[in-house]
Amino acid sequence: MTHDDQGTPPVVLWFRRDLRLNDHEALVAAAATGRRVVPVFVVDPVLWANAGDVRRACLSQALSALDHSLRTSGGQLIVRTGAPAEQVVALAQEVGATEVFVTGDFTPYGRNRDARVSAALDKDGRALHEVGAPYAVAPGAVRKSDGTPFRVFTPYYRGWCAHGWSAPMPSPAVTWAAAPSEAIPDHRAPTDTTLPEVSEVAALDRWAAFRQSGLTGYHEQRDRADLAATSQASMDLRWGLIHPRTLLADLGDSKDHDHFRREVCWREFYADVLFHEPASARRNLKVSMDAMRTDNGEQADVRFAAWAEGRTGYPFVDAGMRQLRAEGWVHNRVRMVVASFLVKDLHLDWQRGAAHFMQWLRDGDIASNQHGWQWTAGTGTDAAPYFRIFNPVAQGQRFDPDGDYVRRYIPELRGIDGAAVHEPWLAPLLAPDYPAPIIEHAAERQEALARLAEVTGSASDAKP
Ligand code: FAD
Repeated sequence: MTHDDQGTPPVVLWFRRDLRLNDHEALVAAAATGRRVVPVFVVDPVLWANAGDVRRACLSQALSALDHSLRTSGGQLIVRTGAPAEQVVALAQEVGATEVFVTGDFTPYGRNRDARVSAALDKDGRALHEVGAPYAVAPGAVRKSDGTPFRVFTPYYRGWCAHGWSAPMPSPAVTWAAAPSEAIPDHRAPTDTTLPEVSEVAALDRWAAFRQSGLTGYHEQRDRADLAATSQASMDLRWGLIHPRTLLADLGDSKDHDHFRREVCWREFYADVLFHEPASARRNLKVSMDAMRTDNGEQADVRFAAWAEGRTGYPFVDAGMRQLRAEGWVHNRVRMVVASFLVKDLHLDWQRGAAHFMQWLRDGDIASNQHGWQWTAGTGTDAAPYFRIFNPVAQGQRFDPDGDYVRRYIPELRGIDGAAVHEPWLAPLLAPDYPAPIIEHAAERQEALARLAEVTGSASDAKP
């Protein structure tokens, strides 16, 4: 047992998707007990096995950084490996804690896990306190006037703004308590993938830099794949290196700030949708789309491999898929284009693409990823229907107007100047090593619309 001089037992703070010490509601609540705090992270073999190398590397780095911050304030991160329902109870018993504090987790897996941990603690005469959320507004908190959840973004956004959120939490004075710990996992990213620093300090620095020089112009430039015009905060939010409150508190009323607030809300909206419809992590939100025909078999596998490896012959798509492997991050516009290509040009299941993204994204998040895919696939919350089919060439010409983004990730195309790089088949001698398109977009677009007509019973002549 880890009792202090007066014999008072400590409390446990169990870190999960909140790997920081600032603006941390559960930490504030743990410190407010006046007890010493045992900080623990449990490496859950189920999550670890599913994470993929990039997210494992992010987690390793984030845990080391958290441990470093704890050590500078007299503590040390306690690491345990195993099923949380066993490990958290065992640690609480070891240190004599009757209270365990966590930030709420709203994902399907997280909710089930926390129910198990809570029941196990309860059986042992201890309590799990869920305090706060990884969101400014917790999933489930914003509803229509009749109490049902929103399925469309814009009305949710209005409700979310009206609901509001608290100011960033103050940093409490904490006396940390120790317990035996395993080593922090040391997992490296694949050799060809370069990650930025994964730490609370780096996250706060990135936000400060973006707030000072990147936010101005965000509204106009955020869709440009060739420019560094977005915050790159997604990884920091994913791992809880920074809380969205911290970002929102710095925003005013300008067009740029409004637009940024709206984007932060997309993350909260998708978390809300998944909270109400947990099955939508794996299945179509719009069940009517279950009838859509998709391709399987050998040709589908060959096409999937070409997509995943960035050799479809469509430069904007291939640049995105190569950026994913090189950086574990892809620009939002490009994510939409590559997802549309997989679903509507190659006719493959969105779940296949979503799983590939989760293996490689450093910001891989079950709600934003699965619903980003479903939005693009026309099976989710998109108010516009399935017949929104991105033209991969026109998208490249529009959002990478000088071709710089494509040339950055595809060395075989560096011999073609300017926007001509988006149509390399017009200059085959300048790019002899780049593949010819694996499909013809115009034909596959018609095929996608024909398959849609089978589902809806009517053809659409909407423009791409
Ligand atoms: P900024 O433009 O600076 O936006 C600020 C923040 O707002 C982001 O960090 C993010 O938290 C949030 N945000 C912005 N756009 C979206 C959006 N469309 N949906 C949800 N949140 C958004 N985002 C993830 O965090 N994890 C994912 O796994 C993920 N998978 C996606 C898969 C697909 C197919 C698509 C189309 C989008 C996906 N997104 C995902 C959303 C979006 O692409 C990224 O959040 C964004 O590109 C991150 O870059 P940024 O931080 O520079 O964004």
